[in-house]
Amino acid sequence: MAPSHVLRCCQRGLAWIPVIFIALVVCWSYYAYVVELCVFTVLSTTEQLVYLTFFHLSFIMFVWSYWKTIFTNPANPSKEFCLPKAEKERYEKEERPESQQEILWRAASNLPLYTRTGSGAIRYCDRCQVIKPDRCHHCSACDTCVLKMDHHCPW
Ligand SMILES: [Zn+2]
Ligand SMILES: [Zn+2]
Repeated sequence: MAPSHVLRCCQRGLAWIPVIFIALVVCWSYYAYVVELCVFTVLSTTEQLVYLTFFHLSFIMFVWSYWKTIFTNPANPSKEFCLPKAEKERYEKEERPESQQEILWRAASNLPLYTRTGSGAIRYCDRCQVIKPDRCHHCSACDTCVLKMDHHCPW
């Protein structure tokens, strides 16, 4: 395996540490609430029932949302935002930024783009080789362009 490949695998493995930490905290809180509070401390059955029902309703919604958040892949820009093969080759060969921008302007003429860089240029990701749609940013942790990206959340 190439060293970069090994590094990538290690990074992926380490990325699970915060998630495992949260899962352990959740398990511990579940035990503290359900067993220690509801079973051993609260003695009235009606109170226990009310406490447990509300707790489990919120708990299920929390676990479901957390699960969806962890296992939903980030959305990437669609195919229309990739440069056609010929244009991509021209873009890579071109050294002057103005000519590169011309290629991008032509390719983006039919795309719904409203956001430009500070200098008025079309936003392009050299790593993913796509024109970045509005609100799309390259996530260095996921190493891909993510739509509507706000920040990479390790939790
Ligand atoms: Zn990310
Ligand atoms: Zn990217």
